[in-house]
Amino acid sequence: ENLTNQIAAGEVIERPASVVKELVENAIDAQATQIDILVEDAGVKSIRVIDNGQGIPANQVKRAFLRHATSKITSRLDLFKVMTLGFRGEALPSIASVADVRLITATAGSSSGYEVHLRGGEIIEEQGASARQGTDIIVTDLFYNTPARLKYLKSQATELSQIVDIVNRLAFSYPQISFRLSHQAKEILRTTGNGNLQQVVSSVYGVTVARDMTDITIQDNDFKVTGLISLPELTRANRSYMTLLINGRYVKNYSLTKALVKGYGTRLMVGRFPMAVIQIEMDPNLVDVNVHPQKFDVRLSKEEQLMNLIEKAVRDKFEQTNL
Ligand code: ADP
Ligand code: MG
Repeated sequence: ENLTNQIAAGEVIERPASVVKELVENAIDAQATQIDILVEDAGVKSIRVIDNGQGIPANQVKRAFLRHATSKITSRLDLFKVMTLGFRGEALPSIASVADVRLITATAGSSSGYEVHLRGGEIIEEQGASARQGTDIIVTDLFYNTPARLKYLKSQATELSQIVDIVNRLAFSYPQISFRLSHQAKEILRTTGNGNLQQVVSSVYGVTVARDMTDITIQDNDFKVTGLISLPELTRANRSYMTLLINGRYVKNYSLTKALVKGYGTRLMVGRFPMAVIQIEMDPNLVDVNVHPQKFDVRLSKEEQLMNLIEKAVRDKFEQTNL
């Protein structure tokens, strides 16, 4: 049983940043408005995520660590219109199979919460506990029982940058949630949660960058595209400053980023890329997120149509403002 989970962990939990992603996504799915992420030694020593979401009912805490025990999908049909970020029910059992996990949680209106401690997938301790509403989960000793994984990790600087990257994108996706990320008790990111994307961009990339970004918005029968893009002169040497969000989910899609760049035409220097945060809303039936357990890849129906729309939104912006 723990072996199955470890194998799943091999796909879902590649590095500390994957743990951060899964835990924060769970907090988002639980409707949290405040999410604190505290990391030690780039996540290898510990990753703690505290949320003020709906919590897990005491009698369901153990179940949450069972494989495929998602509370988010009730029918096969649901798989094609996933709105929550999680749906596989794999993250918690996978993480617990390769680490030490302590979780304490309480739901609204319950007089007490519940606490559970697992190591290598086994429950070592569980008990009722007093807690405020929400969930506090601490993952330590990541990959302690899978030395190959541990060895494969990159330098702390690299692992930390992966964590920062994923939290930044989640902050872009949810401007109405207040995120705090700290490493060795030093704050790296703080967003207000006031719903303003430009302010999130400002927290992530700096005030001056955010000030020099301009908003785009365009819509057709199938897609609504909004977001912030940089002026052509504000460019970067790599593509990692372009963030695409589909229905609130960070995705990687080469065709769509290509369309974005194409919209700039010759305004962009060769080999340089814009900064952008693009939010795409569409019928969940038009997007298949079920391609890979890490869920960055998506398959789109009408991809070509969306590419054209994004390209047009960017091109129109600069033609209309005549920059
Ligand atoms: P999934 O997110 O795919 O459903 P997970 O393994 O990530 O699977 O989580 C299992 C279940 O545990 C979730 O479906 C949810 O019911 C519960 N859960 C996990 N984290 C939280 C959280 N922070 N707040 C509330 N419930 C949570
Ligand atoms: Mg999940």
